[in-house]
Amino acid sequence: MNSKTGTLYIVATPIGNLADFGIRAAEILSEVNLILAEDTRHAAKLLKHYGITTRTRAFHDHNEQTYSAEIIRLLLNGEDLALISDAGTPLISDPGYRLVRMAREQGIDVSPIPGPSALTAAISASGVATDRFCFEGFLPSKRNQRIETLTKLSQEQRTIVFYESSHRIKDALEDLEAIYGEGREICVAREITKKFESFYFGSPATVREQIAVNSNNLKGEFVIVVSGNNDADKAWANACTLVNRLKLELPIKQACRIAADTFSVSKNELYNCVLAERRSE
Ligand code: SAM
Repeated sequence: MNSKTGTLYIVATPIGNLADFGIRAAEILSEVNLILAEDTRHAAKLLKHYGITTRTRAFHDHNEQTYSAEIIRLLLNGEDLALISDAGTPLISDPGYRLVRMAREQGIDVSPIPGPSALTAAISASGVATDRFCFEGFLPSKRNQRIETLTKLSQEQRTIVFYESSHRIKDALEDLEAIYGEGREICVAREITKKFESFYFGSPATVREQIAVNSNNLKGEFVIVVSGNNDADKAWANACTLVNRLKLELPIKQACRIAADTFSVSKNELYNCVLAERRSE
């Protein structure tokens, strides 16, 4: 912390279990001049638990726009500041984007202190493919907009992750079932790292039924992980299986045409694939 201008630290905090807080995160929060907290009373619990006595000031959606310029002045004057949100990683469906952007534009160092996020915690334990995923934040609260969003995402091949609140989890699961049907796997992660941590896994209908068993299952905080639309992969795999069988009886072009028509895949791609396989045999 010796540069002329200060550093803005983006510090992740626990998403439930206070013990999920790193040594460096505690050190940085103790050393900075000021902690910008989404809710200072909420932050006080964590700070007290770790014996951190640094001053806090509220920084949230409602004052981010007006307060950011003042924060930038403090940083330019050489003060080190830390941004924390109520839980998890700041800026992930939490305030701070404008501030970080302004700091970058002013050449101020912005340094993350990584740690928990409901996003990574949920997907890592979901059992749904993790190689490629997209994060959609919260689904719209109005049903027609939610349906529109889910419909637009219906061709997405990557795993999709949503945050959801207890008020809307039931409706969101009903809409997921109606729009994505049986062909998808979903995982609903509830109250991660807390006393009632639960994971529900299966088709949208199965998960909705598992949760409906007990109304307590609708309480708390939720992350929904949805498998991507892999119909294209399945159609291609089916076409390859069929063409391999048909080519034993029919000319390759005809076999490719039938298999491509049956599973709505490209006849030319299938033909090229069969020729390539033949060359490598
Ligand atoms: N920045 C936070 C993060 O990195 O996870 C997320 C903040 S966002 C305002 C709050 C939402 O995150 C909740 O409504 C819920 O969807 C999800 N969430 C936060 N903590 C959670 C937990 N312990 N278990 C499940 N979901 C959680």
